[in-house]
Amino acid sequence: MSAAQPFNHDVSRDHTLDACFLGPYGENDTLLEKMLVEFLRDHVYWRRNFHPEDPPAIGTGAAHHPDYLAFESRMRRELHQLSAALKKSVPFHSPRYIGHMASDLLLPGLAAQMLTLPYNPNNVSEDAAPVTVDMEVQAGLQLARMLGYPHDPAQDACAFGHLTSGGTLANYQALRLALALKAFPVALRAAQVPDLDLPHDDWTAFNLAQADGITLLTAWQGWLAAQTPAERVRWLQRVERERIEQRGLVGFFAAHPDLKLPLVLAPVTAHYSWSKGVKLLGLGRDQLELLPTDGMRLDGAALRDTLERCAREHQPVLMCVSVLGGTEYGTIDPIDQVLAAREASRGRGLDFAVHVDAAWGGYLATVFRHEDGSLRTRDEVAADYVQFPTPAVHAAFAALGNTDSATVDPHKLGYLPYGSGAFVCRDHRAMALLAERADYVFHGGTPKDYLARYRSLGQFIPEGSKSGAAAAAVYVTHKVLPLDHAHFGALPRATVRAAETFHARAQRFALELADGVHALVPFAPDSNLVCLALNPRGNTSVATANAFVRALHDELRCDPRQPLQTKEFFGSVTSLRADMLGTAQTARIFAALGLDPASFVADDDRLLILRHTLMNPFLIDHENGISYIDRYFDFLARRVHSLLATTAVPP
Ligand SMILES: *Cc1c(COP(=O)(O)O)cnc(C)c1O
Repeated sequence: MSAAQPFNHDVSRDHTLDACFLGPYGENDTLLEKMLVEFLRDHVYWRRNFHPEDPPAIGTGAAHHPDYLAFESRMRRELHQLSAALKKSVPFHSPRYIGHMASDLLLPGLAAQMLTLPYNPNNVSEDAAPVTVDMEVQAGLQLARMLGYPHDPAQDACAFGHLTSGGTLANYQALRLALALKAFPVALRAAQVPDLDLPHDDWTAFNLAQADGITLLTAWQGWLAAQTPAERVRWLQRVERERIEQRGLVGFFAAHPDLKLPLVLAPVTAHYSWSKGVKLLGLGRDQLELLPTDGMRLDGAALRDTLERCAREHQPVLMCVSVLGGTEYGTIDPIDQVLAAREASRGRGLDFAVHVDAAWGGYLATVFRHEDGSLRTRDEVAADYVQFPTPAVHAAFAALGNTDSATVDPHKLGYLPYGSGAFVCRDHRAMALLAERADYVFHGGTPKDYLARYRSLGQFIPEGSKSGAAAAAVYVTHKVLPLDHAHFGALPRATVRAAETFHARAQRFALELADGVHALVPFAPDSNLVCLALNPRGNTSVATANAFVRALHDELRCDPRQPLQTKEFFGSVTSLRADMLGTAQTARIFAALGLDPASFVADDDRLLILRHTLMNPFLIDHENGISYIDRYFDFLARRVHSLLATTAVPP
């Protein structure tokens, strides 16, 4: 780097980040090693002190026996091979990695997970995890607070969250819960439960607001509790027989011919886990309606039109999904507009759940929270950035607390090991409908009961046995770095700032290389993903542009046949599809790139673009005055020039 030092060392920088990770160079090796040795020893003493009178079962001379030695050498040999093979892993820790949604791991989480592993708690229930099940439920409340949901278990309407293997399963859980709550009032009607204020027809019952559905559920639980034990069993069975979970979709909808299968509405940008989810639920892919976007953000007008059509046609809607941080472009849907559209729809008798798929962007909410949990104004947030957050982005985060449920992935922007996803719903009382055993009805609402109920976690979650160590990792991380702007928020702040720097640098890159290529950031980033579209100057065909970007990406992706060190940077690609973009956006982007829109369908129905996930906290190395962002663009410029020299672009 030249004499120009782009970094002002006087700028007071938050040095907390220095202790958060093992570090690109393994800088914090002794810190991690000290903790691991300390807690491994601690675990061993725990074993010994359980019943100190029990002598060692493995003899003191056992380690000299040939069988022991043979086993040990086999084990070592395999472990050496594993360790050698793992050297081909993707270097997520490096600031040269800006590909997919992975980065270094937070030390508190990594250490908590490693420390917990030998205890091997199973969070399926408290019998197998007396300590870590509570941590999982607490982690759910920590996330609820970050999202703006009620998080005090002393309140009836407290949120509830649990961990899943990932965002995919959390999204599935959201579908399951929404369907249970939507169909339950219909079951109560079918069972003809007396004394309850039941809706007058199936359509109305299937379109209760979630809050009204929960009120009805609570009234039913109260009514049931007041019956004699024999009557209670009889009524419970009678209602259970009518429930969608009992009858299945076929039986339930056959019994209610006035109701059609409900739709799930999601933007075209939605993750493919939604397709998996509707299949798994048995609704089928036909019931997933993908809505157009405007600049890759859900188009509020299109949603309103769709809802009007559904209301007219008596077509029920199970849920509308909004994406907070799209997987491909990091864009943020107008959650406030989705809620407003639902409000309008309610007036027409059509109601549905609003779920936020914040698998990627969930932790960005920390920068919008004061330490006391209240919302920061746009001006307060904006003081730390050049452009972030746009008014639309701030409005989306401000509306989070009014949604019904959300998916957040601790294993993405939470910097924790796989697999940790999380599902959070705003009012935990709906969860009773997912319980595998119907004895749910006899629990009251005190905080003690709240924790007691969810200690049999396996009753409520899609999975069974699950890692207590992962729950400990999430909980401990949120304790060390509370989910507000002053603590955890330092991480997303660094990544959004890096994305702004990256965006500005990409625009300069486009000017500098204008003689050779058209380069364009197709959508101003809402968060920390930045894409770059490229087309050799003079070319008008999508197929040629794609070949060019594919050749660039070949240099930017893992190749297990080559030593890792031959790669300078890692990036990823995504594609823009004609049906996703819409005509206006296609025209804008194609004009900027010098491409012929006619070739879109003729040659190739998708345009490949480079995609960069800027979550590594060390993209700007203040210690040595290195910007890996500048280095990346220098590298990209070299590659573009050499590709242009070797590829013939048709005139
Ligand atoms: C990653 C992602 C998912 C899926 O999460 P997994 O943890 O990979 O199962 C769902 N939705 C969005 C928006 C995502 O970014």
